[in-house]
Amino acid sequence: MSRSNLQRTSVRQSKRKYRKRVYQTEDEYVGFASLPEQVHRKAVKKGFNFTLMVVGESGLGKSTLINSLFLTDIYKDRQIPSVEDRMTKTVEIEKRQIDIEERGVRLRLTVVDTPGYSDALNTQDCCKAVENFVDEQFAQYFKDESGVNRRNIQDSRVHCCLYFISPCGHGLKQVDVEFMKQLHEKVNIVPIIAKADTLTAAEVCKLKNRVLQEIDEHGIKIYEFPDCDSDEDEDFKQQDKELKLAIPFSVIGSNTVLEVNGKKIRGRLYPWGIVEVDNPKHCDFLKLRQMLISTHMQDLKDVTQDVHYENYRAQHISEENKRDLQRERKLKRESCTSLDGVVDADRLLQQKDEEIRRMQEMLKQMQEQLHVSGGRANGTAC
Ligand code: GDP
Repeated sequence: MSRSNLQRTSVRQSKRKYRKRVYQTEDEYVGFASLPEQVHRKAVKKGFNFTLMVVGESGLGKSTLINSLFLTDIYKDRQIPSVEDRMTKTVEIEKRQIDIEERGVRLRLTVVDTPGYSDALNTQDCCKAVENFVDEQFAQYFKDESGVNRRNIQDSRVHCCLYFISPCGHGLKQVDVEFMKQLHEKVNIVPIIAKADTLTAAEVCKLKNRVLQEIDEHGIKIYEFPDCDSDEDEDFKQQDKELKLAIPFSVIGSNTVLEVNGKKIRGRLYPWGIVEVDNPKHCDFLKLRQMLISTHMQDLKDVTQDVHYENYRAQHISEENKRDLQRERKLKRESCTSLDGVVDADRLLQQKDEEIRRMQEMLKQMQEQLHVSGGRANGTAC
């Protein structure tokens, strides 16, 4: 057979092999390739929930930012306390819930606000109050999970904490450091530089570097973005890189819609111009929204479940075991002392019995002696 014929035969053979393989693949189709769609359909039907906590001094723009992020007015019924109230008031925990729907996907969003945080002169208790709240949610979940009916567990654990840093300082304040150190192992902390429009671009950059440096110096663990998969496309990788570089996100909040050149934009109007909330050149609002809602919401929930809740669970179980052990030891000790008491009482009773028996014997002997001496006396008299 000539060389070309040989090649043709081998091509034909390989074609036949390929056809066979395709045929086999179609034949061997079992159906589990549709599993992701099934999961997707089920998850969409069930709906999603997310709990976001906002922490920071009053007036840093927390409620404005939340409204801007979710395009709602979640703080309709809000009452702003007076300065006197703020001085004396301790931190409060306020929960607000809204159901949002977008293209058939339902999200139950719970926003946990902390009015009064760091307003009072004594700032030490504010961290404790927030920490207690976070722990209570873990405790409730643990209780529900260990209960009989685990079907409709309401997950109220805090999945993300947006921590607002003042643009007026030169970095982190003592209360910021205290808070983050106390809670970084219980909740995903995402630091934010509030009211970025009050700073120049250079000042924002300087403040960001200072904040990152202090976070590092104090050993604070903020939410760590997961590494991008190597098979992701280049655009996604670039977006992810930019997102990581933008931390701490500098944000501007506004619920005012302005009209510029016939275009409606959300921004803040100043005599010198307009700062646009959605403009990436003006602030990192879009990056924050993209991270929080479009790309990392599920990861924030996963880290809450797999890291923070697991830590709580392990610690809680070991504490419970320790308490059980202590209770057991105490019971043992008590039962031992009560057993000793029984033995002592028995011994005392035995001693008393012995004494009575001896006394009775002595009495008997004395009576006998009296009897004998009485008889003798009677005999003499005869
Ligand atoms: P909260 O107490 O932290 O919830 O703060 P608010 O959202 O109530 O905002 C307090 C004030 O700051 C309001 O007058 C807002 O209009 C204003 N504000 C909110 N966000 C910004 C911002 O990004 N830049 C500036 N300059 N002002 C803001």
